[in-house]
Amino acid sequence: MGMDGGEEQMQEPAGCKERIFVSVRLRPLNYKEIARHDVSDWECINDNTIIYRNSLSVSERSMYPTAYTFDRVFSPDCPNQQVYEAGAKAVAISVVSGINSSVFAYGQTSSGKTYTMIGITEYAMTDIYDYIQRHKEREFILKFSAMEIYNESVRDLLSADSTPLRLLDDPERGTVVEKLTEETLQDWNHFKQLLSVCEAQRQIGETSLNETSSRSHQILRVMIESSAREFLGNGKSSTLAATVNFVDLAGSERASQTLSAGARLKEGCHINRSLLTLGTVIRKLSKGRNGHIPFRDSKLTRILQSSLGGNARTAIICTMSPARSHVEQSRNTLLFASCAK
Ligand code: ADP
Ligand code: MG
Repeated sequence: MGMDGGEEQMQEPAGCKERIFVSVRLRPLNYKEIARHDVSDWECINDNTIIYRNSLSVSERSMYPTAYTFDRVFSPDCPNQQVYEAGAKAVAISVVSGINSSVFAYGQTSSGKTYTMIGITEYAMTDIYDYIQRHKEREFILKFSAMEIYNESVRDLLSADSTPLRLLDDPERGTVVEKLTEETLQDWNHFKQLLSVCEAQRQIGETSLNETSSRSHQILRVMIESSAREFLGNGKSSTLAATVNFVDLAGSERASQTLSAGARLKEGCHINRSLLTLGTVIRKLSKGRNGHIPFRDSKLTRILQSSLGGNARTAIICTMSPARSHVEQSRNTLLFASCAK
């Protein structure tokens, strides 16, 4: 599983070695919500606890907690940089030491996933380039790929060809996305250029199918390989290779129907297999690594398998709207987050 030869070189901050780092980010009320006199029902009372401020009815009291705790919670005024530094940073930067990692944004549509992931990806790439600058004794090669999963079909976001890509099982590398474009990154500007190519490709997809962005998962992936410029003579292989994945998930409202009691999986309804399977995989991983973990049940979890289990590091930022009108979705998001920790 993956290449993780750099384990002992990693300086690991507390909180993300064994477990998945799970955080919740509350966004501000937006103009639409303010205009319709919606109110905020949630408050982060410290770094770890978010509470429901509205009073619960008697029947609700038996169903929902008023306080939820996580590795971190972020209040509406918290900037992207702080969100990045609190957890995603340690996870993402471990890639330079040869450790695979994934950073996810999970939440209902319009809760702030894309806003969060764009920030995190840019801060992470800045730190990665900064690290490379400070480690001239090693030679680094960075490769970038981007894909979108829509309806269990994988599309290359760096190519104008929208033919679905196949997944292949490679005995050494695990699941490989066949024919996926891999661009060797020249520098920061090149990275930014490729991001705009992805954005353009994504929008082309959106005109042909309504609401694609809320139903599709986007994975930005950076593979980093490094080797010592001089042989150190200690007999150890000095080559490190790993992948970091930045994942902007489909809107979680697509999965929540199955969380409500009595709902049944029906073919043809808009249930997102990748999102559901990811939830199951993360729940099982967070409970310990014994037993069967159904990575193979969806495209997303197959593609991310080597960056989820084993030695891989994972951070999840669950984004939520503070609005009273979204309380049901917000509770579903908190339930997902609670199961992941
Ligand atoms: P999603 O990707 O979950 O559908 P977006 O990231 O597109 O949601 O966010 C919806 C809107 O809310 C955007 O206009 C975005 O700029 C804004 N927004 C989201 N999170 C924040 C935040 N933490 N602070 C300020 N604005 C935010
Ligand atoms: Mg989005």
